[in-house]
Amino acid sequence: MPKKTIEDIEVKGKKILLRADFNVPLNINTGAISNDSRIRASLPTIKYLVDHKSRIILCSHLGRPKGKVVENLRMAPIAQRLSQLMNLPVSTASDCIGQEVASKVGALKEGEILILENLRFHPEEEANDADFARKLASLADIYVNDAFGTAHRAHASTVGVAKYLPAVAGFLMKRELEVMEKLLHNPERPLACLIGGAKVSDKIELLQNMLRRVDMLLVGGGTAATFLKTQGYEVGHSLIENDKLSLARELVQAAKECEVSFLLPIDVLVAEEIKAGVPTRIVPTTDIPSGSHIVDIGPQSIELFCSELKKCRTIMWNGPMGIYEIPRFAQGTRSIASFLSTLNAITIIGGGSSAEVVQEMGLTDKMTHVSTGGGASLRFLEGVTLPGVKVLLDNK
Ligand code: ADP
Ligand code: MG
Repeated sequence: MPKKTIEDIEVKGKKILLRADFNVPLNINTGAISNDSRIRASLPTIKYLVDHKSRIILCSHLGRPKGKVVENLRMAPIAQRLSQLMNLPVSTASDCIGQEVASKVGALKEGEILILENLRFHPEEEANDADFARKLASLADIYVNDAFGTAHRAHASTVGVAKYLPAVAGFLMKRELEVMEKLLHNPERPLACLIGGAKVSDKIELLQNMLRRVDMLLVGGGTAATFLKTQGYEVGHSLIENDKLSLARELVQAAKECEVSFLLPIDVLVAEEIKAGVPTRIVPTTDIPSGSHIVDIGPQSIELFCSELKKCRTIMWNGPMGIYEIPRFAQGTRSIASFLSTLNAITIIGGGSSAEVVQEMGLTDKMTHVSTGGGASLRFLEGVTLPGVKVLLDNK
């Protein structure tokens, strides 16, 4: 672990500003929390701080209020759920900086928890405004970042505050970093990267960075279409990024040079329109009808991918194999998820959508690690130093 964590610093009696990721999905009609796994993921750090008698000042953003107070994006429901999960009182504040907050912090006793109001009610949060960061920091003695999912953004609460306080990682941040660091620098081999998702342009940096580290690259989803096209196949109306064709070609060439096996689907599910209920067909990739879209990988590709993945000891998966939001087009994604869950290998799920599928299928506990940060894990595996990680104290 390259960064200091809460275990490396004295927290007893201290006021801890804990940046968590409580950006949970809310039901559009009722405003109720529809999935509390992000709150649950932050419990180990909060429990540790309670047990070690810290004064805990939690902060997070929720939704996209764009710098204004939005009533249905207040943190009260989060405080309520957290209180249930911790079986402890959690108090709230009407803002995240200012006099009222300061006096509430002043009244906190050891082991007590206060949650600040939505950080993004202030435009200064996303602007990483120095004065705002200083005001946030002035509430506490120590800053703990456990919001891995927001670590790729340089905001006041993820980067700015670290200038004014000793900054360390929480347990969730630690776990995410350990898994990803090992994946990049010291993986159990063979190592496979399975990439899907909508667009090559979203994944090209990931593919480029991972190419020299992996033993096997497998590409499905919409991303595969651009690669299939570089191989000279007809891909019908599938989304092709013509400006990425030469990069895709170079990648295939580089894979050959590095002796990385590079696998594309051998058959696909096609439809003439992308909507539920339309007729579909399974065709070999050599024979994609010109009027159709690729909407999923086909059964032979599933079999091929699984038999290759079976040889690996580490598998990183980012991006669904098809347009899984439409159940008829979800077979590839779901089969891969089920298959990975049965393996003895180290399985790491890195994307937002891929993680969602795994979670919805109830397979989270059967994977080694399902990242809580889709965008952040993608950036990390592209080789980018995440700004919210960079500012944490080095573990020397
Ligand atoms: P993740 O969030 O797992 O990183 P992405 O955000 O890159 O994944 O991509 C998710 C999207 O990719 C989904 O909305 C899915 O519908 C889309 N997708 C998958 N396969 C295809 C395809 N063949 N054509 C178009 N879109 C696709
Ligand atoms: Mg996504």
